[in-house]
Amino acid sequence: MTSANKQGTDKHCTHWIGGKPWTGSAARAGDIYNPATGQISGTVDYASAAEVDAAVSAAAAAFPAWRETSLVKRASVMFAFRELVRARTAELAELISSEHGKVASDAAGEVARGLEVVEFACGMPHLLKGAYSENVSTRVDAYSIRQPLGVVAGITPFNFPAMVPMWMFPIAIAAGNTFILKPSEKDPSASIRLAELLAEAGLPDGVFNVVHGDKEAVDSLLVHPGIRAVSFVGSTPIARYIYETGTAAGKRVQALGGAKNHMVVLPDADLDLAADAAVSAGFGSAGERCMAISVLVAVDPVGDELVAKIGERVARLKVGPGDQPESEMGPLVTGAHRDKVASYLDTGVADGATLAIDGRNHPVSGPAEGFWLGPSVLDHVTPKMSCYADEIFGPVLNIVRAPSYADALDVINGNPYGNGTAIFTNDGGAARRFTHEVEVGMVGINVPIPVPMAFYSFGGWKSSLFGDTHVHGTEGVHFYTRGKAVTSRWLDPSHGGVNLGFPVNS
Ligand code: NAD
Repeated sequence: MTSANKQGTDKHCTHWIGGKPWTGSAARAGDIYNPATGQISGTVDYASAAEVDAAVSAAAAAFPAWRETSLVKRASVMFAFRELVRARTAELAELISSEHGKVASDAAGEVARGLEVVEFACGMPHLLKGAYSENVSTRVDAYSIRQPLGVVAGITPFNFPAMVPMWMFPIAIAAGNTFILKPSEKDPSASIRLAELLAEAGLPDGVFNVVHGDKEAVDSLLVHPGIRAVSFVGSTPIARYIYETGTAAGKRVQALGGAKNHMVVLPDADLDLAADAAVSAGFGSAGERCMAISVLVAVDPVGDELVAKIGERVARLKVGPGDQPESEMGPLVTGAHRDKVASYLDTGVADGATLAIDGRNHPVSGPAEGFWLGPSVLDHVTPKMSCYADEIFGPVLNIVRAPSYADALDVINGNPYGNGTAIFTNDGGAARRFTHEVEVGMVGINVPIPVPMAFYSFGGWKSSLFGDTHVHGTEGVHFYTRGKAVTSRWLDPSHGGVNLGFPVNS
């Protein structure tokens, strides 16, 4: 903590274990920043193996009773939680904005998208219905059920401090598991507010726990024998590590990684619509979205016209603090991240790209110490450049020029990531072909950020996901439950003696 940044450091964020804030004293802690001012606003305790163990013990102690709680009662807690979060959306949005930097309206949007998963989880009694077959053999019936795993954990990134945890815990909890969340240490407060609201909704103590921290806390979760499954969302190198470490420790793991999302614009597209979409999806939340458009692939001859239209729109964007209603784009999450993102503007030019718009010159209405970087556009980018190869995760839009649809498709399918993509065209056949041929998990047709609704599942392909199961939707329900098939015969007077043969239908 530098003294220059030490101002208003009254906030203290700690773990939530067994239905209440942790009262111990932490051996390690981190600073929480307000990215719009560049000032430290508080501290967050970092968990060691001992606090992780206390959270697992609390969750394990709560599991037997929670598992026996009726489906209807578990769902009713989700209904109550939904109402509480809805009523406090503005308060949560303000909290998120003050630690993440995104503008408050965008933060309210992430709360709303998280609530859709809560609403989906309210339907758990229906989602957990099994199948029943009568007379699979004479007077023998068969049925299937799905049961919770036990204690499960979620490890989440900084960029959606409310929505990404809500992709996980509502489904896990409604299905009868108990949960430990390890949110990002950069913006930890929203998770504690959600824990308080779950308690207010009637969730028994220990069913939902939060441990804060960094690698030490994560590693303790990954090897803890009391944890059955781990959901992770974050960058690709850490996702790969979580998957390998967690599965080696015998856990079920789904690990969602980073992204480089391409938007293809075909020559027949409505270029004004495409320019609006590229600017919204490229610079919303300062490009710190895993579904942000970071590469626009302009198929000849629309490149020049599209770049001009994007330039007109970018010039009008208002960059400023998230709590100012007129701000459309806030700061980046940390000073180090802002500097790293900005460095790609220089390396891109050194590699041969054209800096069509330099966000370092964009007007900003916030304090100079904030972690600002305006929207930038690098044109004539090629796949060999580091600005293309790396996930920048900031307000830098790459433009790749492609001679044809086939070249555009080759660029996308040659990229190691496969999270989201979009095509802009008025040709239904071209859109259908793209949907069929592109090697990406989530596809938009004239929709730039195709985040699936809660009742579908969210997940990428290739280096954007390690594991087999996407999050939320029915794949989420499967991830947090395991199946059992039961074959049952109730004896009647006609039962027929010993038979050592393998059971077959005769
Ligand atoms: P990150 O990988 O740095 O951190 C994610 C989580 O892992 C945090 O809780 C963090 O504390 C923990 N962590 C960090 N380093 C660790 C280490 N060495 N060992 C163990 N744990 C560690 O990601 P971030 O910067 O918080 O978030 C941005 C990234 O998340 C981007 O790459 C973005 O694309 C990705 N993301 C992906 C999705 C998706 O759905 N695929 C969604 C949101 C964000």
